Amino acid sequence: MDNGSVGGLWSPLVRTEYLIILRHCLKTTKPLGESMVGSIVLFGPPGAGKGTQAGRIVELTSKPQVSTGDMLRAAVKSGSPMGLAAKEYMDAGLLVPDDVIIGLIQERLQEDDAGQGVLFDGFPRTIPQAESLEQIATVSSVISIEVPDDAIVDRIVGRRMDPETGEIFHVQFKPAPPEIEDRLIQRPDDTEETVRSRLEAYHNQTAPLADWYSDRGLLIRIDGNASINQVGVSVERAISRIL
Ligand code: ADP
Repeated sequence: MDNGSVGGLWSPLVRTEYLIILRHCLKTTKPLGESMVGSIVLFGPPGAGKGTQAGRIVELTSKPQVSTGDMLRAAVKSGSPMGLAAKEYMDAGLLVPDDVIIGLIQERLQEDDAGQGVLFDGFPRTIPQAESLEQIATVSSVISIEVPDDAIVDRIVGRRMDPETGEIFHVQFKPAPPEIEDRLIQRPDDTEETVRSRLEAYHNQTAPLADWYSDRGLLIRIDGNASINQVGVSVERAISRIL
């Protein structure tokens, strides 16, 4: 199943909302140059630990984290037509269409804190997304956190989030303190069935980007099949090569 088979979800209302955002972006896009240099892409399969490691990279680089997953979840929560349509894709483990994602990113990069580059988390996820990104920002490095499929299913199905702080825990690998255990939530797309679809989307649509970035000399591979701290050390090493 590809994006096209649920394309009918994009009602005229959603398209209109999207076109308004796009028109705004085309009017206000800043010229290319110094202002956009130095973005970092955090790349890897779902559940690779991108969100967990993003915190360290933000501390080390002071670049703001731009997570398309978080932006989409905020849109779902707001109940906007775009959010509601995106939810259908997300709950099915499919990628949200490129034009919507690119519109969101174009809008986000207009914000003042994006001037010195950002840390992209979960974006780009397709070659057309990477090609669009090339037009609006300079990517200086891509850190790829590599984890085999078998490890991913266990990681994602046990993943929990603290809705008050956004901190991510795992029932087995990173248990939450008992006093906050009751308020933890599980993402609706973190079920085993949906994880399998997300992995399929990853292998078909996203994984080819590793070669795409490698050909451009930007890819730094990291073994993500280790403890959070061990992966953190590798991430810090990669960042020290970049800075
Ligand atoms: P994960 O990396 O664990 O899959 P995310 O929070 O990054 O989780 O994304 C959740 C869902 O949001 C994805 O399964 C997909 O449906 C959608 N999504 C996020 N980023 C993108 C993107 N760049 N392109 C298309 N869909 C996206």
